[in-house]
Amino acid sequence: MQFNEIQLSGEMLKAIDQIGYTDMTEIQEKSIPVILSGRDIIGRSNTGTGKTAAFGIPAVENICRENNGKVQTLILCPTRELAVQAAEEIKKYSRFMPWVKVSAVYGGSSMDRQIHELKRGANIVVGTPGRVMDHIRRRTLKLADLQSIILDEADEMLNMGFREDIEEILGYVPEKRQTILFSATMPPEIMAITENFQNDPVVIKTLSKSRTVEAIDQSYYVVNSDKKADALYVLWLYNAPKSSMIFCNTKKMVDELTEYLAEKGIRAEGIHGDMKQMQRTSVMKSFKSGRISVLVATDVAARGIDVSGVDAVFNYDLPQDNEYYIHRIGRTGRAGKSGKAYTLLSGRKQVYSMKAVAKYTKSDIAEGKLPTRSEVAEAKLADFAEKISAACKKEVLPETDRLIEILKEKNISVEDIARALCSKRIGKDLNNIPDVQSVVYKTERRIRRNGNGKIVKVNINVGRKHKIAPNFILGALVDATGMSGKNFGKIDIHDKYTTVEVPDAESGFIIDSMNNSRINGNKVTVKLYEGKSYSDKNRNYGRKNNSDYIGKNSFGGGNKYRRGSGSQKKRY
Ligand code: ADP
Ligand code: MG
Repeated sequence: MQFNEIQLSGEMLKAIDQIGYTDMTEIQEKSIPVILSGRDIIGRSNTGTGKTAAFGIPAVENICRENNGKVQTLILCPTRELAVQAAEEIKKYSRFMPWVKVSAVYGGSSMDRQIHELKRGANIVVGTPGRVMDHIRRRTLKLADLQSIILDEADEMLNMGFREDIEEILGYVPEKRQTILFSATMPPEIMAITENFQNDPVVIKTLSKSRTVEAIDQSYYVVNSDKKADALYVLWLYNAPKSSMIFCNTKKMVDELTEYLAEKGIRAEGIHGDMKQMQRTSVMKSFKSGRISVLVATDVAARGIDVSGVDAVFNYDLPQDNEYYIHRIGRTGRAGKSGKAYTLLSGRKQVYSMKAVAKYTKSDIAEGKLPTRSEVAEAKLADFAEKISAACKKEVLPETDRLIEILKEKNISVEDIARALCSKRIGKDLNNIPDVQSVVYKTERRIRRNGNGKIVKVNINVGRKHKIAPNFILGALVDATGMSGKNFGKIDIHDKYTTVEVPDAESGFIIDSMNNSRINGNKVTVKLYEGKSYSDKNRNYGRKNNSDYIGKNSFGGGNKYRRGSGSQKKRY
């Protein structure tokens, strides 16, 4: 259905037309008429389905011209970026309605300026719960005439710990009001808010997936956790995206990776919640203007920023939530362009999680193989050749003829000159390509026969105290590594930890695969056992029938994502 088929004012239709929307998205089609009618609503749909317009358009339409100078609509958003973005969007809808005044209030920005703006008679206020609460307490934000309150990304606000603020704010606003709630997920905490603060809400749920995922070419790469940065760099070099975003799960990782990339000579900058607003704004400016080509970000920092149409998205860490995955990769492949999304994984558990993501997003995510050094070099050369041919077609400095003459007099040929200049330009790049390989998982991973046969022990931080039995441990090992049970030796269960004998050649892989998984409900940390280790080439692992153990493991399952193994945070 098109926007002009529903009851919207001429001013609104003109504004929508200018923005360039014609058809409504499903959530818009279903919610706009309900919100216009004044009823409470619970709107649930995936990220990227156009929720801002779904509540923003009716919010603007519902502003009453007569009751001016009073705050009529309050919109709560989880982050300052989201608040700013929603405010910007709403300003666009109200472009031809000078009586609608939108103001954004959020932390990390001058209180005075915000107070000044509020005093000028804002009737739609968009803000983060913390700062809104601040303004209410200072009485710089008066909500006595509020007609509707909108909670955008309610689940995310709760995740961020805004529950108390939200409940307090809801307690301040007039009882006779419209309460609108949008959320991608509906955990019980949201249901509680709904029950306590909404009045017979219309529930709207859309199944449409994000408009963005379909056009994106998605792949994943399995690497050892200490090789992730190199793997990322190789992928970036090989695919040479003009602009890209890299997502990490932690702020620390954003910093470390940005530094790593900068050392490689890439114009990369990071953005995360610990940075000052000014700093963030300046990074965003540089990225949007193309001065930097790679933006490294956490989910929370990126959630609000209005960046789309990047050539590639890299998931340095597997996101902790399916919705994050969609939101991340939605940064590429917009507006009919096809985008690329690459995800790095380490450990077999993460491969399973990736499969769950593929299922959730109903998309194909293919396993890719990292390009070899020579493939990367070849790609770089082809790229450079393109650039040189393009440059040859352009006008050259007249002085260069004279320069070539001088060099010829010194017996240097034109080829020599070309070689020297090319080496200078790309020599460093070519010499610095890291050598990383994808990890290949076989269904049944066997001990490398040519290994040295050395046995080591790994330490798993669960033991008798956690009601652990050997079959739990073995089941978890088999499940996480895909190795056969006979590859594992003696299992010693102590009070607080367990040691397992494993082949030295596989120990790194086993540790990566196991880390942060769950055994009997306990999240485990696995490391090399520091005690006695010994070599015994002829040791026979006495387990004859391991099939009993398979499937009896106690991994948590579900779709909560775990971070990669701990070691990735320390090393490159
Ligand atoms: P959500 O809040 O559901 O994650 P947004 O409101 O941020 O989604 O919208 C996602 C993208 O879709 C934005 O770039 C927005 O401009 C665009 N969009 C929203 N509604 C429409 C529409 N009816 N037609 C085309 N594009 C739209
Ligand atoms: Mg939104």
